[in-house]
Amino acid sequence: MSEQSPLILSGKTVAKATLMRTRQEVQAMLAQGHEIGLCVVQIGRCAASSIYVNRKEARAKKLGFISTTLRLPEDVSEEALLEQIDALNANDGVHGILIQLPLPKHMNEQRVLDRLDPKKDVDGFHPINSGLLSQGRGTLIPCTPKGVMTMLEHYEIALSGKHAVVVGRSNIVGRPMAQLLEKSNCTVTICHSRTTNLEAHLAMADIVVAAVGIPKMIQGEWLKEGAVVIDVGINRLEDGTICGDVDFESASKVASAITPVPGGVGPMTIATLMENTLRAAQA
Ligand code: NAD
Repeated sequence: MSEQSPLILSGKTVAKATLMRTRQEVQAMLAQGHEIGLCVVQIGRCAASSIYVNRKEARAKKLGFISTTLRLPEDVSEEALLEQIDALNANDGVHGILIQLPLPKHMNEQRVLDRLDPKKDVDGFHPINSGLLSQGRGTLIPCTPKGVMTMLEHYEIALSGKHAVVVGRSNIVGRPMAQLLEKSNCTVTICHSRTTNLEAHLAMADIVVAAVGIPKMIQGEWLKEGAVVIDVGINRLEDGTICGDVDFESASKVASAITPVPGGVGPMTIATLMENTLRAAQA
């Protein structure tokens, strides 16, 4: 057990720095007469989605983007949504388009996301952007894993030659996370719901990224002494509190560095979305 407290990797701090860097570049573009447009598409009025959408819109406006939200009713047909996406794709004033997920059950998520112009796909979910990322040459990279990389860079966490274990293989977090770590010369193991003996994999990890969605699943006793622990999980407990996929208390006794939840990876996602919107406008 480590005698020293771990370094707390603050997403709040790094998100602030990321937003400041982005703001400077945005101001320079605006000064040259360019405008940057972001459109968030929200289908239905799910309360949780509305909170995220409002936050994104407010943040984008603060940076100087022209930020709009296209709100469509819950029962809008997929065909009507696709027509709206076509119109946004053709609109030169819109540089970034984000479809707020999840979509209503009557829609095919993949078909909807595939319809986006890949150059405007600021979430980085389009197969063209996934393909570019898998070849190590992506620019519009999914916001959460890209934000994790920004955090690791900010805190000068050495990656080359390290063994990283990513728990979770979703297209939104786990899979692109593993690709980014591999690009930074980590040796990467991906664990998932069918992995047998997760603990044995974690015991060998210099860097752990947890993106599972199970509260406090990963225990400190499973981790290697001095591991760097990145907790992507956001889980709401019955008492209303938020926790990650890692048991912070026990993991803190072993880790050399760890992200808290909340205040860790979470703030990086919106900050990276703003960075991606800027990149889409610059392309
Ligand atoms: P997901 O449900 O799409 O994927 C979960 C992954 O966990 C799957 O690949 C599955 O194979 C794996 N898994 C499930 N049970 C497992 C087990 N027992 N052992 C090992 N692996 C297991 O979820 P997601 O969209 O990737 O999100 C994961 C978590 O990250 C959630 O808590 C989500 O809320 C959070 N999240 C946070 C942010 C952020 O901004 N911080 C962004 C996206 C997602």
